[in-house]
Amino acid sequence: MSSPKNIAVIGAGPMGLACTYELLKAGHRVDLYEHDDRLGGMSASFDLDGLTIERYYHFICGPDYPLFELLKELHIDDQLCWQPTKMGFFYHGKLYKWGSPPHLLTFPHLNWLAKMRYALHVLHTKRLQQFDSLDSLKAATWLKEWVGEPAYQTLWDYLFQLKFYEYKEDISAAWIATRIKRIALSRKNLFTECLGYLEGGSETLLKALEERILTLGGNIYLKAGIEQVVVDKQRVQGVLVNGETRPYAGVVSTVPLPYVPRLAPNLPADILNKMTAIQNVGVVCVILKLHFQLTENFWLNINDPTMEIPGLIEYTNLRPMSYSIVYVPFYMPKTHPKYSNDNDSFIKEVLSYLPRINPNFTNNWVIATHVSRYQFAQPVCTPRFSQKLPPMQTPIAGFYMADTSYCYPEDRSISESVKVGKTLASFFV
Ligand SMILES: Cc1cc2nc3c(=O)[nH]c(=O)nc-3n(C[C@H](O)[C@H](O)[C@H](O)COP(=O)(O)OP(=O)(O)OC[C@H]3O[C@@H](n4cnc5c(N)ncnc54)[C@H](O)[C@@H]3O)c2cc1C
Repeated sequence: MSSPKNIAVIGAGPMGLACTYELLKAGHRVDLYEHDDRLGGMSASFDLDGLTIERYYHFICGPDYPLFELLKELHIDDQLCWQPTKMGFFYHGKLYKWGSPPHLLTFPHLNWLAKMRYALHVLHTKRLQQFDSLDSLKAATWLKEWVGEPAYQTLWDYLFQLKFYEYKEDISAAWIATRIKRIALSRKNLFTECLGYLEGGSETLLKALEERILTLGGNIYLKAGIEQVVVDKQRVQGVLVNGETRPYAGVVSTVPLPYVPRLAPNLPADILNKMTAIQNVGVVCVILKLHFQLTENFWLNINDPTMEIPGLIEYTNLRPMSYSIVYVPFYMPKTHPKYSNDNDSFIKEVLSYLPRINPNFTNNWVIATHVSRYQFAQPVCTPRFSQKLPPMQTPIAGFYMADTSYCYPEDRSISESVKVGKTLASFFV
């Protein structure tokens, strides 16, 4: 190991927490800075009418190995629960069962050939070991080649439209393939999907990491947004926080890449340009606490021209509670005019959709509502995305950076953020 250093980590989401923990294990002195009033970033929780619940839904999949390793190390692997889950597909006004061979066979809006091609595509993708050959391909092109144009329109086009809008034609096939594979490997058998959650939610992981960081002598500062990385002669000197410069030999940023040009304006122009070229979609996520279960499905995909949502997630069909918790994400680039609409209009829109999904639903079912927003909910991973990312090890000596874009070709997840956090820490070992 190199000699112990004073290191500042910026951002206390899963990536920053995992990175801090690894650096402390390696013997460094580490201060973790978080802009928010709590740990967790996208995986943080809040109080919804007396219930501690995550800002965004989180499920765990069979291949989330970096997360499993961490849970074991933190002695909380016994908190990991697996639950058989159901999927639905609300297609043009009707709710269908989805996610197993009998459901595919009885779905009336695809012909036999399309169904066969769809099944073969999932089997093929599940077995893929490397994704290089898909890296330069567009997702839409690759999916159409496998399942055909009509099936693509039925199954994929609306989802892409309502997640990526103007970017929908420029999504990497490698990225979508890893998403399909992650879910496909989360099955108990051909007929049963099985997803994971933590007893107590992601908060259980965040608390365990916090405790371990403090035990190892690390410091965590909340409401401490870093204003700048202090640099002299292309070498890190420290960070500027609340108007005060604090000296550090190393600085690691885990904040969304679009924030970095403001934090480190002395980075070379080519790196700044690469960062500003990466696009993200934001999310406005409506969360409902309901008296009754809306459907039996954890995940409900939606393709209905009268509903401007790609799906809804009834979280309590994964992690049982005495209420029903439903997440309804409106993904969109923050430049979309709808993004600036107020929270009430999103809640109203969701409530207007629910009687179509379950005709028994009335507004009397609603106990509480909440809206979570995040500008950088999902990086837009375009073909050859890894070549578009600036290096984690920047030309400023002692300054390293990453965000969820670096999970590529995998989709962003808590598990992948843990993995990237470890990689960032390894630069100091
Ligand atoms: C709608 C939605 C659904 C999701 N579903 C799942 C799922 O089912 N399963 C799963 O595994 N993952 C899921 N994810 C993804 C998962 O939440 C993220 O991948 C993960 O939380 C990212 O962690 P991170 O630490 O990399 O980044 P972030 O969570 O973005 O953390 C970055 C942190 O940096 C802080 N920060 C920013 N600027 C500064 C500054 N100047 N100074 C100090 N701090 C700063 C931010 O406040 C934030 O806390 C979902 C995400 C969303 C939005």
